[in-house]
Amino acid sequence: MRILVVEDNQQVARQIQVSLEQELFIVDVAYDGEEGWFLGDTEPYDAVILDLGLPKLDGLSLLKTWRQSSNRVPVLILTSRDTWREKVVGLRAGADDYLAKPFELEELLARVEALIRRASGHASPVLKCGPVELEPVSAQVSMRGVPINMTALEYRALQYLMQKKGKVVSKSELSEHIYGQNLERDSNVIEVLINRLRGKLDSSLIETRRGLGYQLQETNDGA
Ligand code: CA
Repeated sequence: MRILVVEDNQQVARQIQVSLEQELFIVDVAYDGEEGWFLGDTEPYDAVILDLGLPKLDGLSLLKTWRQSSNRVPVLILTSRDTWREKVVGLRAGADDYLAKPFELEELLARVEALIRRASGHASPVLKCGPVELEPVSAQVSMRGVPINMTALEYRALQYLMQKKGKVVSKSELSEHIYGQNLERDSNVIEVLINRLRGKLDSSLIETRRGLGYQLQETNDGA
């Protein structure tokens, strides 16, 4: 899962980035509204954390511009003051959630996770597919209750596929959501990664749709 943080306070941005990365999110940071707008317009993020008070282009205008161009990325706004007016204006401009500064990083993480969950239509915090369970809060994967060791990249790929369960995910889509902005994306690397995942999990879990990509089957597991 890939997150964009748009925040001009470098210290706050850094704190958010570090805590998201600890939960194995890929994080890009923009320090002004123009850069944030550009990144959000060109890169496929799974969620955006957007400060409202930003240089060059304020967060509210940025959000309105995205929504007008039908960019529906889930957005959590950071309001500077705990006033109801700012929240209402932000929500009406198309924000999906808000958090007033100062906030606890743990609450921010919980809200971002909930945002991503809602956007992909999952109600439960634990992602399930057949015998495999993935718990974003602890970044743990288990199969039939047995914990499975994963590299950060394997975890990210599995999490993305599980979020998109039942849908076909192309190699390029997958790589865009598991690598950072400037990393080289090679489709052979994705094939190797998928094969490693198949080796660690049920080999039938991830199906190849020839010429299209990969798909986790919807199974009757209530998730
Ligand atoms: Ca600010």
